[in-house]
Amino acid sequence: MRNLNTNVYVKQTKHKGKALFANRSFKKGEFIVLIAGPTVTKSTIYTIPITFSLFIDPVPVNNSGRYLCHSCDPNAGIKQRTMVVAFKNIKRGEEITIDYAMIVDKYGEEMTPENNLCKCGSKDCRGKLGSWSKLPHEIKEKYRGFVSEYLLHKLQQ
Ligand SMILES: [Zn+2]
Repeated sequence: MRNLNTNVYVKQTKHKGKALFANRSFKKGEFIVLIAGPTVTKSTIYTIPITFSLFIDPVPVNNSGRYLCHSCDPNAGIKQRTMVVAFKNIKRGEEITIDYAMIVDKYGEEMTPENNLCKCGSKDCRGKLGSWSKLPHEIKEKYRGFVSEYLLHKLQQ
């Protein structure tokens, strides 16, 4: 596939289709990949919200952000609205994940009950992908600095 960013690669996984992997090691806070694509008004399971009603769609440009999967114990987070950065130190070959609650407060029709189930397998798995305003306070604190800024402007005042 076309991928100009050599920080990451896409690989088929056993249980959840294609996912994004680290092509080198990253230190906490380091830039990994920019999610890019046209701005759309309807969400899909691949879009990244940048406000409550606008989304970046990585699919038409085959941006690797479309393969970024959720984990309740993520190793990456979001700076600004579309920059994926390391939330922990990451080793080469590890899958890159964010917590979708770092970018979403309200899902659209794409989020069927089936799609909303989390199978990340982490010991702290919440069972659902969840959303920012429903996160427990201590997780919000843990994610501080790694959450889409549009959520903070509206919801944390
Ligand atoms: Zn989970």
